[in-house]
Amino acid sequence: MSDCLFCGIVEGSIPSQTVDSDERTVSFMDINPATPGHALVVPRAHSTDLIEIDPEDLAAASVAAQRLARRMEEVLEPDGFNLLNACRPAAWQTVFHYHWHVIPRYEDDPLELPWIPRGGPEEEIAAIAAKLRSDDG
Ligand code: 5GP
Ligand code: ZN
Repeated sequence: MSDCLFCGIVEGSIPSQTVDSDERTVSFMDINPATPGHALVVPRAHSTDLIEIDPEDLAAASVAAQRLARRMEEVLEPDGFNLLNACRPAAWQTVFHYHWHVIPRYEDDPLELPWIPRGGPEEEIAAIAAKLRSDDG
């Protein structure tokens, strides 16, 4: 869909800190991280939400979310994870292209749901993305 933000990220016309991709999915850092390392997993094919998504894309996105969580486990050493999907505005959805939130959790993090988007810190997001991509060795 031409006016969809996450389709733009999948196509590369909108910049993102991409950390993982496969035939069906792309994973990238959330621009307003709820905790350090917060990332999103989307299907390459546009679908609005949990109700609309092709089950094979849902399966692929779920496997990609697990792969990303395992990568985070290695390089960020969080204490836990929340996997979250918001379906429709009543459930906090704001971007209408299906996505898993993969949110690493830390014992002392102050996260409350729903979190308040606060933007950046861009440099920290980029540094964590580099670790998750393992392009910093
Ligand atoms: P939702 O509210 O639909 O569950 O989640 C949408 C998520 O997309 C939010 O966590 C928000 O911070 C993130 N987001 C919004 N705009 C952008 C963007 O331009 N780039 C990236 N990487 N994330 C975005
Ligand atoms: Zn889309």
